[in-house]
Amino acid sequence: MQCLICGDSAAYYFSKVYREEPFCTFMNDIGEVKYFRCVSCGFTMSKTHYELDHQEWENLNYQYHSFSERAKKTGNRKGNPPPYYEQAFMIKVLSKAGIIDCGNMVDYAGGYGTLSSILSKYFDISVPVYDPYMQNSSKNIYVDASDLRLYNSVICCAFFEHITSRSDLDQINRLVSGDGSMIVHTVIAENVPSDDDWFYLRIPVHCSFHTNISMGILMNQWGYKSSIYCPAGKCWVLLKESGRDFASIVNKINLEFQTEYMIWKDGFVDYWKGF
Ligand SMILES: [Zn+2]
Repeated sequence: MQCLICGDSAAYYFSKVYREEPFCTFMNDIGEVKYFRCVSCGFTMSKTHYELDHQEWENLNYQYHSFSERAKKTGNRKGNPPPYYEQAFMIKVLSKAGIIDCGNMVDYAGGYGTLSSILSKYFDISVPVYDPYMQNSSKNIYVDASDLRLYNSVICCAFFEHITSRSDLDQINRLVSGDGSMIVHTVIAENVPSDDDWFYLRIPVHCSFHTNISMGILMNQWGYKSSIYCPAGKCWVLLKESGRDFASIVNKINLEFQTEYMIWKDGFVDYWKGF
């Protein structure tokens, strides 16, 4: 198998059989999941998920997302939701600091629009949502695929772990303007553990696992120069602009908040070393 990120070869790493209900029922026809890891950058992918045909992949996503929506209402969800409030606050701070233009953003694969709703209601920031599975929604927050354009900032929350091809990633980056940014929320580890009990494998539609090295390579391929990590929002902001002193801007915010609210680094902020 070839690595989607750096192109080097990926070798068999470990496998998992889903045993927890209802996921084992969803995965019954698919069976054992085999993970392959890139020998160079450590990017880890589920060969099993990548080889599902379109209909099988759609069925699995439909089953999982229907379960997940029901679970939210009954308080029976598995896995943690993204820290939406913290992400909304972070977007407000980034905007006030002039790092992003919140008037020119899109929430890519934004699902039911939770982040967009919080931004609108509590922060007066209007961010349209693009989601390929929500094209028929009656909510007026959605933008159709044909209306997508270039944005100063593209939010991509809990999507990087769902991709099954390189083009899934590249189509997000194509929406970011020449001096824009991409805000990414996913789990990025130093090394993906070969542990079938790892918390991030609990969700049966997670099939791509990024590392600090693979993200550094991806950023570079896409033309991003530096990045910011916000631990509260669990988000990275990948920045294309190179002529600005982001270090000073971030430092000022941190002094004002009297905490290390954000971390800036040339290249990728390798914040998480282990889990
Ligand atoms: Zn690789």
